[in-house]
Amino acid sequence: MKASAGGYARAESTRHAIELLVSADGQGRVLAGGQSLVAALNMRLSSDDLLVDISRLSELSGVRDAGGTLRIGALTRHAEIGRSQLVRTHAPLLSEAVRYIAHAAIRNRGTIGGALAHADPAAEFPACALALGATLHVEGPNGARAIAAEDFFESVFTTALDEDEILVELSLPKCGPGDAQVIEEVARRSGDYALAGLCLVKRPTAYRVALFSVAETPVLAQRCMAALEAGDPDGAVEALRAEISPPSDTQATAEYRRHLAGILLRRALARLQGDRS
Ligand SMILES: Cc1cc2nc3c(=O)[nH]c(=O)nc-3n(C[C@H](O)[C@H](O)[C@H](O)COP(=O)(O)OP(=O)(O)OC[C@H]3O[C@@H](n4cnc5c(N)ncnc54)[C@H](O)[C@@H]3O)c2cc1C
Repeated sequence: MKASAGGYARAESTRHAIELLVSADGQGRVLAGGQSLVAALNMRLSSDDLLVDISRLSELSGVRDAGGTLRIGALTRHAEIGRSQLVRTHAPLLSEAVRYIAHAAIRNRGTIGGALAHADPAAEFPACALALGATLHVEGPNGARAIAAEDFFESVFTTALDEDEILVELSLPKCGPGDAQVIEEVARRSGDYALAGLCLVKRPTAYRVALFSVAETPVLAQRCMAALEAGDPDGAVEALRAEISPPSDTQATAEYRRHLAGILLRRALARLQGDRS
């Protein structure tokens, strides 16, 4: 089936892109890497929208060290994140996550902003953003605002972005001495979306555990984190399995996903032990 769009406009700047979205009056859609949006257009899950192409806005691309934080432009492609030495040093979770995302052709086009704005609950980057305590920076007709990752993902494919806002950048606290970051997932085949996945970030006095493919949004596993901070890994596995309500679908049952979540936590903890020895 052919894609159905209501029009196309190439933005010359972020401000211009916002103006185009405002003029579309709710019918505008940002086009970044197109890896999810074009598929949706082809399947007629989205139609008659004005496509606002931001893909050539170099101001929205790149990774930079901003002192206490790492800043990543929304248009930075998955492959660039995988290659970035700054990301490897300061947010190794993202470098590792890239290896699990789809295939090389998709990683060469797909952008981190697109992955976050698309808010697929099975995607890796939204859970990474949650585990890392990222802040998402957005711009719209009323100016700029910053949204904590915890408040950004509202439901399946739904975020806190308004219809005329653009995600421009994310900022992350940098990985410090003694910190560790790992991602674990189980997928049927390499490059497939995960049946279940888990990000674990260990800081000197705290843990953050975020899961993907187990709910309508990425999930921050609060009770599991509290058990880890109390030095109780078995309790953490139990708490994790109790606090998620995964879906059953054609890929896996809820019970299997819950089982996997515990296994993934044990694997991630074992890797942290290995890192220390
Ligand atoms: C076959 C296949 C397999 C895949 N496997 C995986 C996988 O295993 N894991 C995974 O995480 N992803 C996977 N993906 C998705 C891929 O990572 C996409 O790149 C990503 O989801 C969207 O990024 P994009 O830049 O292509 O966004 P687009 O497709 O251009 O846009 C996606 C959505 O986000 C909005 N959007 C994009 N950028 C912005 C912005 N800056 N501000 C506001 N809104 C914006 C668009 O309007 C649209 O609604 C797969 C895709 C395909 C086609």
